[in-house]
Amino acid sequence: MSAPGPVLGVAALARELAAGRVSALELAEAALARFETHAALGTALAVDAELARAQARAADARRARGEAPPLAGVPIAHKDIFVTRDLPTTAGSRMLQGYLSPFDATVVERLGAGGAGLVTVAKLNCDEFAMGSSNENSAYGPVLNPWDRSRVPGGSSGGSAAAVAAGLVPAATGTDTGGSIRQPSSFCGTTGIKPTYGVCSRWGMIAFASSLDQAGPIARSAEDCALLLSAMGGFDERDSTSAERAPVDYHAAMLAPREGATPSRPLAGLRIGLPREFFPAALADDVAGAVRGALRELEVLGATLVDVSLPRTELSIPVYYIIAPAEASSNLSRFDGVKFGHRCADPADLTDLYERTRAEGFGPEVKRRIMIGTYVLSHGYYDAYYLQAQKLRRMIADDFQAAFRDCDLIAGPVAPTVAWKLGEKGSDPVQSYLADIFTLPASLAGLPAMSVPAGFARSADGAELPVGLQLVGRSFDEATLLATAHALQQVTDWHARRPAGC
Ligand code: GLN
Repeated sequence: MSAPGPVLGVAALARELAAGRVSALELAEAALARFETHAALGTALAVDAELARAQARAADARRARGEAPPLAGVPIAHKDIFVTRDLPTTAGSRMLQGYLSPFDATVVERLGAGGAGLVTVAKLNCDEFAMGSSNENSAYGPVLNPWDRSRVPGGSSGGSAAAVAAGLVPAATGTDTGGSIRQPSSFCGTTGIKPTYGVCSRWGMIAFASSLDQAGPIARSAEDCALLLSAMGGFDERDSTSAERAPVDYHAAMLAPREGATPSRPLAGLRIGLPREFFPAALADDVAGAVRGALRELEVLGATLVDVSLPRTELSIPVYYIIAPAEASSNLSRFDGVKFGHRCADPADLTDLYERTRAEGFGPEVKRRIMIGTYVLSHGYYDAYYLQAQKLRRMIADDFQAAFRDCDLIAGPVAPTVAWKLGEKGSDPVQSYLADIFTLPASLAGLPAMSVPAGFARSADGAELPVGLQLVGRSFDEATLLATAHALQQVTDWHARRPAGC
């Protein structure tokens, strides 16, 4: 078939659809075929071809009537942490195997038939309840990194980043509690943005750590992310922490010229802060090299680099790994064999029902976090751990405020290394936790943060492995992140490269 498949990005496909050069149905067929061809990557947990075709036909009909919103008919897939009415939702857990939600998550609803009209092709693999950094904590098997199938795609939105990197869909949704949009984007060479806490509704997003959880898009470019975020975001009265703000057109905001900008220097006047704690001596050379290369490009585009400090960066690991498990232990109490999901066979009594249901339904990482969370919230330890962590969380947020006095955005690596080998960190969860060091601070501060492809490192066995540049912005200043990433993507092609065989 000569019709352009989902290898093109969201903006390009929307143009093809508008020009009538391709139909939504053709795009859906192409995406379905690619999911089949690349099934070995392990990205999909559910695909419903008939459902995708029906949505695509509806999008084509809307377009024929001249009533289609701009993105109608573009294929998308959702992280399996968003509940969907028409496809099962598992959160990567055995606990929710076969679960069908009675409603769609707000993000799914806004992107789907009732909103922007994108066509849902699949639900995507992820770490169980979004806990992890490698997708190896999924009850349904790992996802392989399309750049090197012996490596992890990152996590917890590993299925989303791998599916976009492999060109199965032009974009996917992800969620980010401590880095789960940015880190898999870095490992897979995709562009992903976690907006400010409160921009995307958490309604229908299975809760991990509610004070940190945010949804966002993973796509091939900043432009595509801007288009999707405009459709996904915005106030939702069903989420009590949703930000009460007027709808934002992130695409228009991204393209608005900066004061003093010229065509060759679109970033003139922009001050980019480099926290010295984000460039430790121990940072892998290939990561540091790629990030510095991308920063040089930003300088050529007119930005100025300034030194700043986020002195409590290292503390973000213990702080996050107290607060997130504490909230998780509370959120996951609903999976008890009574209200939702799995129930053990023939319980002797109620205690036996709870114990066996949870022993069977949850995987080891989820159990570990429930135990840590219950411990740090328990009488006698609450003050020593949870309360201290909350105080430090505030100080970490204050450090960003101080840094933003000297700069307009902050840049650094997304992760200390490129994608690691499957199984490499399996026996020691702390090794995984430590690798979250650069993504956790922005999560704890609730700030918008993005991963932008910044080049490649070559592995010892010769594979090209993507490296991500992280950009962190002021509260609700997604536009500056997107504009910076967009300017970079106008003069570089790292984001457009494709893994061999995809
Ligand atoms: N890697 C982090 C964790 O394991 C972040 C996960 C996430 O953002 N969902 O908790």
